Amino acid sequence: MTLTKKPETRPTASSWGLSAGGAPWDYAPAPEATDHVTIEPEYGLFIGNRFAPSKPRKTFTVINPATEEPLAKVAHASKADVHRAVTIAREAHRSSWSKLSGRDRAKYLYRIARILQERSREFAVVESLNSGKPIKESRDVDVPLAAAHFFYYAGWADKLDYAFPNRQPRSLGVAGQIIPWNFPLLMLAWKIAPALAAGNTVVLKPASTTPLTAYLFADVVQQADLPPGVVNIITGPGEIGMELVRHPDVRKVAFTGSTAVGKMIARAVAGTDKKLTLELGGKAANIVFDDAPLDQAIEGIINGIYFNQGEVCCAGSRLFVQESVHEPLIDKLKARLGTLRVGDPMDKNTDVGAINSAGQLAKVEELVQSGIDEGAEIFQPDCELPTKGFFFRPTLFTGVSQSHRIAQEEIFGPVLSVLTFRTPEEAIEKANNTPYGLSAGVWTEKGSRIFKMVAAMKAGVVWANTFNRFDPTSPFGGYKESGHGREGGIHGLAAYLDVSGDGANTR
Ligand code: NDP
Repeated sequence: MTLTKKPETRPTASSWGLSAGGAPWDYAPAPEATDHVTIEPEYGLFIGNRFAPSKPRKTFTVINPATEEPLAKVAHASKADVHRAVTIAREAHRSSWSKLSGRDRAKYLYRIARILQERSREFAVVESLNSGKPIKESRDVDVPLAAAHFFYYAGWADKLDYAFPNRQPRSLGVAGQIIPWNFPLLMLAWKIAPALAAGNTVVLKPASTTPLTAYLFADVVQQADLPPGVVNIITGPGEIGMELVRHPDVRKVAFTGSTAVGKMIARAVAGTDKKLTLELGGKAANIVFDDAPLDQAIEGIINGIYFNQGEVCCAGSRLFVQESVHEPLIDKLKARLGTLRVGDPMDKNTDVGAINSAGQLAKVEELVQSGIDEGAEIFQPDCELPTKGFFFRPTLFTGVSQSHRIAQEEIFGPVLSVLTFRTPEEAIEKANNTPYGLSAGVWTEKGSRIFKMVAAMKAGVVWANTFNRFDPTSPFGGYKESGHGREGGIHGLAAYLDVSGDGANTR
C-alpha cells in the first residue's frame, strides 16, 4: 500500500465561499425530483377506508403556495358527511379496534411507521409542494419525526397497564382531531398515533390549505390494511371542524391552531364530558446571557425563528439579549441573516420557503408594518424573492419595547423582535409578560442559571443552549393562552384514555 502525504490545506477564496475574484459563489440549483410522486386531480373524503366524494358533491382547490398554481381539488365535507364519518368511526371502535389486543394494535402502528419511512421521499415532496416549507425540512424533520411518533406509540400500545398501573386504562371511543397547516403530516402523527395506540378510532380534519399529506396518509392506512373506519379523514372549512367538535359521539377533541379558534372549541366542549386538549399559539422568549457562546446562540436563534418560515407555535419570536452583548450579537445575527437562502421550497439549498397562504402573508405584512409604525428598527437582508408565490424576507426588529404589537402578538412568520435586559430577574419578568406560555430558550454557560430560569419561566417547554428540539418521548404543551394538555410521551397517551378506574368516560 502506498501512502501519499496529504497536501497541507490553507483556506482559499473558494473554501471561504468566495470566487478567486472575491465575489461570493452562488449555489447551483438543486431541485428535488418530483417524478416519483403522483398527486391525484381530485381527492374524496376518506371514510371507512374508502375515498368517496362529499354529499352533496362539492370541492375546493388546493394550491402550491410557492407558485400559486393549483395542485388538486379536495372534497368539501357537509354536516351529513361529518355524521357519517363519526358513526363509522364509532362502529369501528365498538366492533373491531377496541376489541383488538394492544399487541395487535401495535402491529398496525409499526406497519404504518415503516410505510412512512419507506415512502418518506414521496411524503416530503408532497408536504413541501403543499405547505411551502423547504424540502430539507420536510425530508429531515417532518417525515422522520412523524414516523418516530408511530414507532414510539406502537411501543406503548400493549403496555398501557404498566403506563397507568392500577388505573384500568380504557379507550374513550371516537377522537375528533383538528390540525393546522404549519406541520400537516407531523401534527397528524401527533394526533393519530397516541389515539390509535390507546384503542380509539379517529376522525381527523386537516387545515384547508394543506390536506394532501393527510390524504396520502389515508393511502398508507389502506396499505397497512387497518380495519375500515379506524382512521377517517374529512376536509372542509372551519365550520366542519366545529361540527366534528360538537358531534355527540365524539368523546375526545384534540385541536392545534390559533388561540381564537381554541377558545371557541373550549366553549363548545364546556359542559360536556368530552376530553379536550388544546395546543395553541405562542410568543416564545429566547434569552441570551452575556456568558453564552454567541456563535452557537446565533444558530439557535436562526433555527428558533426562521425554521419553517417562523410558522411554528413554539418559534423563538422574542429574542432577549443581555445588554452587554447586544451589539456584537446583533452584528453577527445580521451577517448570518444575509446568508439565508429564501426561495423555491423544492430546492435542497433553500433555508426559508414560502409562507403558507396569501392570508397568512397579509397578516405577517400587517404586523411588520405595525412594528415600523410603532418605531422599531427593521433589518432585512437584501435577497431576491421569487416573483410568484407567497414569500417574505427574513426580518429582524431591534429597538422593540414590550408594548409593541410585534412583541405581544403571534406573527407566525419569519420575523424576530429583539429586546434587551440587564439582570436575570428583568429577563424573567419581561419574558413572562405575555398571554402565551408555550416554549422558551435560555443560552448561558452557567448550569445553575439554567435551572433558575427554567423554574421561573411560565412556559411548557424550555430549551437550554438549543432550540426547537422535538422528540416523541417528550411531552409538549402550553400554559395560559397557549392551551392545556400535553402531546407526546406518556402524557400524550393519557389524554386518549379513561384512567378513572371505573370506565366512566368511555362509551
Ligand atoms: P386556525 O386556528 O383558524 O386553523 C387551525 C385549524 O382549525 C384548521 O384546520 C382550521 O380549518 C380549523 N378551524 C378554523 N376555524 C374553526 C372553527 N371555528 N372550529 C373548528 N375548527 C376550525 O388558524 P389559521 O389558519 O386561521 O391561522 C391564524 C393564526 O393562528 C396564525 O397566524 C397563527 O398565529 C395561529 N396558528 C397557530 C398554530 C399553532 O400551531 N399553534 C397553527 C396555525 C395557526 P381551516 O383550515 O379549514 O380554516
